[in-house]
Parts: sequence; structure tokens; C-alpha cells
Amino acid sequence: MVCAFFIAAIDLLFPLVSKGAMEQLLPQRLFGTFFLVMGAVALAFVLRSVMFYIVTFLGHQLGVYIEADMRQDLFSHLQTLSFRFYDQNRTGHLMSRVTNDLFEITELAHHGPEDLFISLITLIGSFIVMFTIQWKLALVVFFMIPLIVFFATSQKRRMADASLKVKKRVADVNADLESSLSGMRVAKAFSNEKYEIRKFSKGNDRFKNSKGEFYKAMGIFNAGMEFLTAMLNVLVIAVGGFFIMRGSLTFTELITFNLYIAVFLQPIKRLTSFMEQFTTGMAGFGRFTELMDIEPDVKEAPDAKVLADVRGDVAFEDLSFSYDGEHNVLEHVSLSLGAGETLAVVGPSGSGKTTLCQLLPRFYDPTGGRILIDGQDIKELTLHSLRDAVGIVQQDVFLFAGTIAQNIRYGRSSATMDEVVQAAMLADIHKEIMALPDGYDTYVGERGILLSGGQKQRISIARIFLKNPPILILDEATSALDSETESRIQQAFDRLSQGRTTLIIAHRLSTIKNANRIVVIDNEGIAELGTHEELMQKDGRYAALYRTQFGQSPKEE
Ligand code: ADP
Ligand code: MG
Repeated sequence: MVCAFFIAAIDLLFPLVSKGAMEQLLPQRLFGTFFLVMGAVALAFVLRSVMFYIVTFLGHQLGVYIEADMRQDLFSHLQTLSFRFYDQNRTGHLMSRVTNDLFEITELAHHGPEDLFISLITLIGSFIVMFTIQWKLALVVFFMIPLIVFFATSQKRRMADASLKVKKRVADVNADLESSLSGMRVAKAFSNEKYEIRKFSKGNDRFKNSKGEFYKAMGIFNAGMEFLTAMLNVLVIAVGGFFIMRGSLTFTELITFNLYIAVFLQPIKRLTSFMEQFTTGMAGFGRFTELMDIEPDVKEAPDAKVLADVRGDVAFEDLSFSYDGEHNVLEHVSLSLGAGETLAVVGPSGSGKTTLCQLLPRFYDPTGGRILIDGQDIKELTLHSLRDAVGIVQQDVFLFAGTIAQNIRYGRSSATMDEVVQAAMLADIHKEIMALPDGYDTYVGERGILLSGGQKQRISIARIFLKNPPILILDEATSALDSETESRIQQAFDRLSQGRTTLIIAHRLSTIKNANRIVVIDNEGIAELGTHEELMQKDGRYAALYRTQFGQSPKEE
């Protein structure tokens, strides 16, 4: 800001000093002094360029820091948002917001203080000087200003709208790209590359068109501004010429006046180009704040307690849940598991088994009823301690791009290599890892694509062994596997669930026969509850499911 002040001062003083030197020194033929003054002016401009360098460099640096901070804040905020948010938003859109939308912030943050400051000083300063030279001529300039400002602001609005549209289209392109690239293997399997290309070109065209609209608005804006400034110059020379003929203005004064027009117009041009940056920057900033304002729908209570020394009693009390607020996926479900007990959940597809599991670690909050762990409402616990206590193995395992060791260590980042190996042994994957060329340092590819389904599954089990949670959820974790892998994984599960409260969901009834109790749920809620023997005896829904799967009657079994 100090540098900006001196830059503005030098710009303002230059014409005035030149005028003084020409008027005072030249008529007296004091050439020596005249060139000395001009030398001093040149030196001032050397200083000015040094300061200009500092303003440009540090100013942009400041902008970069602000932009990086905002990006980091946005990313941290995204980490707090819950499942519901990610259900409703496309990954590509979010990526666009974290990257593209913030690009212009650097320019804005820099040119904001600098340009506004320099411009305002030079604008006001030069106007005062012009006023003292010839106030009538200054009035001509003065009356042009409202016209320029009116034109600039109305055109600015059009550009802001267009710029916001561009931002949205970029986000669409990013989302299309993300979805298409991550589904590449499916696209190829259906040889749908052409279809994908057509689909992509639609979004790309919309992006192109929105950019066109923006540049059209910018073209009108720039052309209009150039025209208005040219008119200002013409007017000043015409009116100034008139005053010279009338003898109320000298040539030197008109030349100086014209020099000040340039000084005066420079900030106006800067301000308008700043407006342009401002509109695009603010469009991005608006989208930034819009995201930052979203509150996570699963929130920690302000006085949340840490869940410690977990025994593992779990109770679902009169639980109801709905995704859309209209129709209930779960209705008045009450269930309880004693510490260390294994409860199997059985039911037709879409009956809400996965949903039930997702309520326990508070991925979603129930619409009615509550869940207790060791008698404490999970809403009164810190999210961290709650989720530490619950381990989940899902059907589609997600591995991060990285090494096997890194992926296992995701279960507990502080684990030593020995502990990682131990966990891999318990998950029955150690031998296979050792057979790989790089062992634990083998790269697994994006989403673990370089490993087989069974291997990925066992790595995810190793993660849970490391995490060592007292409560375990196995959600159809074996349904996608062949029967040999399944039996190996089943053994790993048996080891894993020992001493832990376990909620297990499985299609294959053979894998849940050993559960302490089995609950059958359907669209109405809990249909049956009991041990395998009890339910077979009852000869109801469970017995029917069991028979369709094994083609046996309960008696033959
Ligand atoms: P299950 O695991 O028993 O097959 P889910 O719990 O996955 O059943 O799903 C129960 C119902 O909720 C289904 O009708 C499904 O379409 C719906 N559903 C599941 N997940 C979501 C979600 N994230 N948003 C909206 N509806 C969902
Ligand atoms: Mg499910």
C-alpha cells in the first residue's frame, strides 16, 4: 500500500513538474536546471518501477496465499459434510468448485487493494489539478463521468451473469469428465465410446456457448469504454481549442491538461478492468460461500461426550428413517444386541438393511427413535469416538491409490509395520501380498483396480483388524465373491467378530447360520426374530428364504 501510494504520487506529480519546469525554466533559458529536473523525474520513474515490481510481486503473492487458504478451508469443510450431501452432489462439480472457481481470487485479492487505492488517489488528485488549471474544461470532463459509470455498471451486470453461467458449465464439464473416466471400463465393455464422446461434446458445446456470451458482453463493454474515452479526448481538445481562441487558456495549459486526461483515464480503465476481474472473481467467490454455508446435517452436540471403554451393547429404539422425508425406509424398528453378540439381518433387497447399518455410525440421523451404545444415545457422543468404535466392511471395497501397506494402515495411521503384517495375517492375505513383486509396497491402482475382488475385500478386513473396533458391521461383504474366496473370508470374519458386537448382513444364509440371533426385516419392519433353529421351527419367512436358497425342506436339513 505504501508503494502504491508513491506510484500514484509520482504519476500525479509528473505532469505538474513538467509544466512548472517548462513554464519557469525554459523562458529564462535555464537549460542546465531544466535537464537536472528532468533527470530527477527519470530517477523517480526508476524508483516507481522498483515499487511497481514490489506491488505486483507481493500483491499477487498475497492473493495466492488467500486463494490457497480458501481452497484449504473449502476442502476441510467438505470433510465435515455428511453422506446426504454426497448423495446429492456430483464429484466433478465439487472438484470444479475447489479448483476453477477459486482461480480468479488471486487476481481479485491483489488488484482489489492496489488498483482501488492507486486509482482513487490518481483519480481525485488529477481531477483537482485539472480543476485548478481550467475549471470550465474540468467540468466538461466531470460531466462525462456519470455516463461512463452508468455504462460500466450496467454492462458489468451482464458480464457477472455470463461469468456465473460459465462457472456452472465448467463444473458440468468436469462432472461429465469425472463420471465418464471412472466408468471407462464399463463404456468399453459396451463399446459405447462413441456415445460417451457425443455425451461429452454436448456439455463441452454448452461450455463453449456460455464463454461466447461472456466474451460478447466483454466486447461491448471494452468497445463502449474505448469509445467514451475517445469522446472525452475529442471534447477536451474541441472545448480547449475554443478557450485558446478566446485567450482564456494557453498551449502549455492544454498540453498539461491533456497529460492529466491520460492520468485521469488510467484509473478509470484500471477500475473497469478491475470490475471485470471483480465480476468473475465474485462469481467464484459466491459459489465458494454457497458451499461454505452448507451445514453438515449430521452434527456433533456442543457438549458431546467421548465414548470410552466400550462394552458393545447396542440398542435400536423405535427407529424410523426416511431418505426423502416422504416414505419411510425403516419404521418403528426396535432391536438390541448384547456385548459380543452376533446378530444377522436378513431380508429382501431394498428392505433397509444397509440403511439400518448406516444409522449406527451416524452416516445419517434417524427421523424418529434413537440408538444407544452402552446405554448412551449416540447423538450425545463425539463423532470421532463413535466412529472409532464401529468398524464397517462393505460389499464394494474402496482402496485409495497407493500401496497395500498404506491402504491397510488407513485403519490406524499410527500402526507399526509389524502390526500391519499381523493384521494382514489375520485377514488371510499376508501370503498373497508376499508373493507380489513389491510385497507390501505394491501399488494397488486407482480404487484398487490392480487387485482381485477377494484380495481387496481381505485388505479391507485387515484395515478393521488394525482399527480393532468393539462393534462390527459386515454389510453383504461376501456376496460378490466366489465360494472358495468366500469361505476364506468367512473364516477371517469369524476371527474378526470374536469378542465384538457384530451386525452381519448376508444374502447367503449359510454364512449367517452361526449368528446368535437372526432378524428378518421387510418393508413393514421386523418380521421375525430368533435363532436359526427357532426360526426354522416357526416355518415362516426365514424358513422360506432358507428353502429357496438351498432347495431343501427344513426337515431334511
Ligand atoms: P437393502 O440394503 O436392504 O437392500 P437399502 O437400505 O440399501 O436396502 O435401501 C432401502 C431403500 O432406501 C431402497 O428403496 C433404496 O432405494 C433407498 N435408498 C438407499 N440408499 C439411499 C440414498 N442414499 N438416498 C435415497 N434413497 C436410498
Ligand atoms: Mg444393502
